[in-house]
Amino acid sequence: MKSVQIIKSISGLRARLDQARADGQRVGFVPTMGYLHDGHGSLMKRARDECELVVVSIFVNPLQFAPDEDLASYPRDLQRDTALAQSCGVDILFVPEVIEMYPNGQVKTQVSVPELAAHWDGASRPSHFTGVATVVSKLFNIVGPCHAYFGRKDFQQLVVIRQMATDLSMPVTVVGCPTIREADGLAMSSRNSYLSPADRQAAVVIYQGLQQGKRAALAGETNPAAIVQTVTDVICCELRATIDYVAAVDRASLTVPEWLSAESLILVACWFGKTRLIDNVLIRRGDATAE
Ligand code: AMP
Repeated sequence: MKSVQIIKSISGLRARLDQARADGQRVGFVPTMGYLHDGHGSLMKRARDECELVVVSIFVNPLQFAPDEDLASYPRDLQRDTALAQSCGVDILFVPEVIEMYPNGQVKTQVSVPELAAHWDGASRPSHFTGVATVVSKLFNIVGPCHAYFGRKDFQQLVVIRQMATDLSMPVTVVGCPTIREADGLAMSSRNSYLSPADRQAAVVIYQGLQQGKRAALAGETNPAAIVQTVTDVICCELRATIDYVAAVDRASLTVPEWLSAESLILVACWFGKTRLIDNVLIRRGDATAE
């Protein structure tokens, strides 16, 4: 198997990708913060299936962490990440230092999508989505025309990025991919590594709550408050869990409708000790298999 090429400079990546496109190759791009797991792996494999050249970026972006969050302790392991990327057939790992991405320290330009970022995770983490949209727009400008793969695990992020790419006419096709879960249903996340064994066991309650909410919705419940109550009742049975929010929303606007339409979404954010986990489930009435 061809080994993954590691590129650290913006100019080096640009030159390589411009050449690939000139040769008629389609570029697939998977932005990540590293500490890769099979959730990331599914995005890489999808990109591998659909594109001739696959680039994965690993960059723990300081802009999207608040001062009291886990920037310093965010897990990192480039050797392991390189092996996983290689096993998924990735061609290039783009691993810039912070100084390469932000040579003057602070950026003076920000990209934000306030209407979509105001609630849920954006309410709990006020500067988060501006940090995400700013770094992803920078990465899209560096990578250039491509297909970019994002997980539905971070659904609000996906909606924000898709809107940003459309509004700013970025030459990028944003592709949303299903959430990959552990055997017991917990959504895979780099932050799961923070959980104590007891919290790890308890964390499955998020999935159980979401499934209960989904069952209620598929059985015909369309009142968002009733769905939220159903999910909350399940999660509250687990004393190790502290709910940040539970919401039942329209999947396009992420706002709470009077009545849920056939295409909606249940979102959860929950603390286990100092670890905050998020998850969601799509509801497509008429399609019980929808993730
Ligand atoms: P992160 O490294 O956590 O910033 O995630 C990078 C990308 O991987 C984002 O598009 C995430 O939505 C996606 N991702 C993370 N966890 C999962 C998962 N369990 N299933 C699918 N995609 C995921």
